Amino acid sequence: MTDPTTENEQEVAVVGAGLAGCLLACFLARRGHRVALYERRPDPRTGAAERGRSINLALSERGLDALRRIGLEERAMADALPMRGRMIHPVAGPLDFQPYSRDGDRAINSISRAALNDALLDAAESAPGVKIFFNHRLTGLDPDTGEMRHETPEGTVRVTAPVIIGADGAGSVVRGQLLAAGVLEENLDFLDYGYKELAIPAAHGDFALDPGALHIWPRGTSMMIALPNPDRSFTCTLFWPAGGPAGFASLSSPAAVERHFREHYPDLPPLAPALVEDYLSNPVGRLGTVRCGPWQVNGTVALLGDAAHAIVPFYGQGANCAFEDVAELDRCLAETGDSWRLALPLFEQRRRENTEAIARMALANFVEMRDRVASPWFQLGRRAEHALERALPGVWLSRYELVSFSTMPYARVARRVRRQRLALAGVAAALASVAVGRVRAGGRVVPTLPHGLKGMGGAPVAVRNACPQPGDIPARPAFEDLGVPPRPQGVGGGSGGGAPSFGKVGAPPGGTSRPKAGGGSWGRVRGKENA
Ligand SMILES: Cc1cc2nc3c(=O)[nH]c(=O)nc-3n(C[C@H](O)[C@H](O)[C@H](O)COP(=O)(O)OP(=O)(O)OC[C@H]3O[C@@H](n4cnc5c(N)ncnc54)[C@H](O)[C@@H]3O)c2cc1C
Repeated sequence: MTDPTTENEQEVAVVGAGLAGCLLACFLARRGHRVALYERRPDPRTGAAERGRSINLALSERGLDALRRIGLEERAMADALPMRGRMIHPVAGPLDFQPYSRDGDRAINSISRAALNDALLDAAESAPGVKIFFNHRLTGLDPDTGEMRHETPEGTVRVTAPVIIGADGAGSVVRGQLLAAGVLEENLDFLDYGYKELAIPAAHGDFALDPGALHIWPRGTSMMIALPNPDRSFTCTLFWPAGGPAGFASLSSPAAVERHFREHYPDLPPLAPALVEDYLSNPVGRLGTVRCGPWQVNGTVALLGDAAHAIVPFYGQGANCAFEDVAELDRCLAETGDSWRLALPLFEQRRRENTEAIARMALANFVEMRDRVASPWFQLGRRAEHALERALPGVWLSRYELVSFSTMPYARVARRVRRQRLALAGVAAALASVAVGRVRAGGRVVPTLPHGLKGMGGAPVAVRNACPQPGDIPARPAFEDLGVPPRPQGVGGGSGGGAPSFGKVGAPPGGTSRPKAGGGSWGRVRGKENA
């Protein structure tokens, strides 16, 4: 029997012309598939951006790798600005720059989600066999027949496709329809935090802050970040509790807003003349983690990107991860002779543990960004880690390095970092016991700072002595073998796309209230993580 899903002539429906949907359309077109791309919004390239929803992304190696595979890196990166580290803004005292990589040469890239989406829409539109249908909001889907219902300005349109991919974001209607059909379970874990955008305009035609850094104002239980834009402005994002005395709702009058920022973010008011107005008029967005399964049904309807696994934005990986999905699905199609029935389950099997791993890392990174980055112990730890990376190139790699500057699968990153830490603790324990033995035997112990760790200042002795010498450990694979691209010469790296699919606070995603998948394993895992 022939597999009807291998028929390239048949049209694949992709729901959502956001970042993942557009890139997927380009990859599928290259494989010879005809693609109908349905988007609920009007063409964003012709309209104005939604207020307070500009969203700047940090695009890093995983996203770039996927774009590179289809020749879109340069086009997508035309307006990106490299950020080589975090600039910490304490309440008082000097700014502190913390490089992302051991030599300060690697960069993540600040890029407007809307600009990136526009570039990808251009690419999808010009790809052979791709048709884009704007103003088509999916409202119904029968996973058995492949019939879709779209609401358009001209009325309801019904179309059928043999393969349907939901790339319609965190509040995915495709996912909602699979849930309603009883073929999928989901759990939406919302943080008690929301986000709100503010702006720092250009000052006298120049950047008001260093444009080569991602700026962070860590304030313990909350924080603000700012990313540079090509027009020399910065987009700031507040991540604050949604309610309570320190939450968004607690500041309702202009005087209270002004007082709060002068007290807690004293360097901001002079740089942001419209601060109070922006604060009072811009919406609060929700943040959360989507877990669901299965991601595909019968090899004909599937989810990808945020629709399958939206995560909180604190590792700057949501879009990068969605782009990785697209590259992986392309690989699965290539390996299965374009059989969707084989490729879609394979895709889920390969991606699931990785997306779960980055979801956990993203949640953990929130605590690091809003709180720990300001601590001297954290800074010492980072310096020690960079020293280890220098001392043991290719052997010791920080989690940040592996997540942001490599394409090593996320789950392997998590395992590797755990192994590294265990090894370090083991070496520390062994050295400590040797030292104790020598002291007992009357020997003299002279703590030596291993080569490459000099300059670490007051690093704890256990850590200093635990670090193996470069020659102690057999040579390990080079960067390339680990999925880490070669270090660039010189300086590195270089929504508008619609409202984020999580709606405003109070509005459930996708306009519907989703019952939690009761009691299943999804619920248990999630409850624990956000506790
Ligand atoms: C504040 C914030 C900061 C972030 N920072 C980063 C970062 O630094 N780095 C990073 O990599 N990621 C970041 N992200 C995450 C990133 O924006 C998402 O992971 C990414 O946009 C997901 O792409 P997607 O295509 O899956 O979904 P989306 O970009 O949400 O696209 C979904 C598309 O589907 C359309 N759609 C929705 N419903 C329907 C329907 N019923 N019918 C038809 N079309 C529909 C939408 O209009 C949209 O165009 C951030 C997110 C937020 C909220």
